[in-house]
Amino acid sequence: MALILAGASPGLAQEPETTTETTDPSIPTTAATTSTTEAGGTEGTATSEATSSTAGTADSSSTSSGGDTTASEFSDEELQAEKDRVAQAEAANDRKIDAAGADLRSVTNALSALQDKIESQEAVVDLASRQVAKAQAIAEAATDEVAELGAQVVDLEAKSRDQAIRSFMGNVVEVPYPLSKNDLNAALRMQTLLNTATKSDIDYISELVSVQEALDVKVIQAGEAVAAAEDLRQTGEQELAQLEQDRQAQAELAADADERLDHLLSERAALASLGVELESQSAADEAALVQELAAVPSPLPPATPTPVPSTTGAADIRVAGKGIEVHVSIVADIQRLLADADAAGVNLAGGGYRDPAAQIRTRRNNCGTSNYAIYQMPARQCSPPTARPGRSMHEQGKAIDFTYNGRLIRSRSGPGWNWLKANAAKYGLKNLPSEPWHWSTNGR
Ligand SMILES: [Zn+2]
Repeated sequence: MALILAGASPGLAQEPETTTETTDPSIPTTAATTSTTEAGGTEGTATSEATSSTAGTADSSSTSSGGDTTASEFSDEELQAEKDRVAQAEAANDRKIDAAGADLRSVTNALSALQDKIESQEAVVDLASRQVAKAQAIAEAATDEVAELGAQVVDLEAKSRDQAIRSFMGNVVEVPYPLSKNDLNAALRMQTLLNTATKSDIDYISELVSVQEALDVKVIQAGEAVAAAEDLRQTGEQELAQLEQDRQAQAELAADADERLDHLLSERAALASLGVELESQSAADEAALVQELAAVPSPLPPATPTPVPSTTGAADIRVAGKGIEVHVSIVADIQRLLADADAAGVNLAGGGYRDPAAQIRTRRNNCGTSNYAIYQMPARQCSPPTARPGRSMHEQGKAIDFTYNGRLIRSRSGPGWNWLKANAAKYGLKNLPSEPWHWSTNGR
């Protein structure tokens, strides 16, 4: 996108190809397809897994195959998540937009492209969130099974012990007391009985062993599911952080576009006071900008009342000559500029300072009566769109719209433009590239 921004020219009509290139179509498609597939497959697997685990007691073969299915399923998802993450990282390089250097058209293109990226990222984050929830459900199911199998082990151990004791005690009771005087004989007999008891309990013992094996598998499985869930959660959080960065970038682009709109609107008013109308291209740019910005969330009014910003008052303004009034801080420079141009045979004149009072009245009519509505609400939220007062360099007395021989300098050619291009910097003025007539202390 950076290349496209650099290459875009101010007056160029918007080409559809540019929009298509700027938006990477693979990201939203991938995310949408994946999320749809995941939603179906996931729940079915989780349900069958939970059901089989509850029913299955000591069937280690079916248990371990269930575990494999779970593991491979997560590998696929993690792979997908990783793919998405790489795609996001690549997209991050595109996000490095030099908004300050971008022209109006580029800013609006960048805004819509960024909006697309944010939407695709929201889909990715949504997918990751659902993957985490699913992994947690499986981990919980496995944990439940562990608890259940543990209870079975305890039960079987108790049964086994009871059986052994019953066998031994049952036989002992049958033994006449006097025989126990023969210690060796009694010990041998006890050993035999214990062996017998163990043999008769062989079913319990083997069941106990297989249940313990199943328990081990389940413990490992639960651990893996939890680890996978943690990985997914981490990926999701990273993507969310990226999303927040994008939102921030979008807010900055929107603020930049709002400033551009302020400039276009107030420039039109400034030129109108010179008796000059802007080209229809500029009006079209205004309209396009308002339309593009309509999709951008508007900033919420602050909870606390907005203080009235200080605007440049008439007390700070001085006459430089040739119909031009400027801020006292630059009046000497502009007086020299006009005199030097005259001496070179270049007849420059124009308009400089514009009183924000009229703009404040217009804002009150078009935007609302609160301090926020008058001074800070974006121009696009007013009806019709109206520039915020005090922000134009004209309202600060630090911008001049130049005429040459009484006509607005509309092109980068001719004696007026050529002289300014060669000399204006000496007097502290910079040109706004999209407007050959507009020169200010900061180029805006
Ligand atoms: Zn201007």
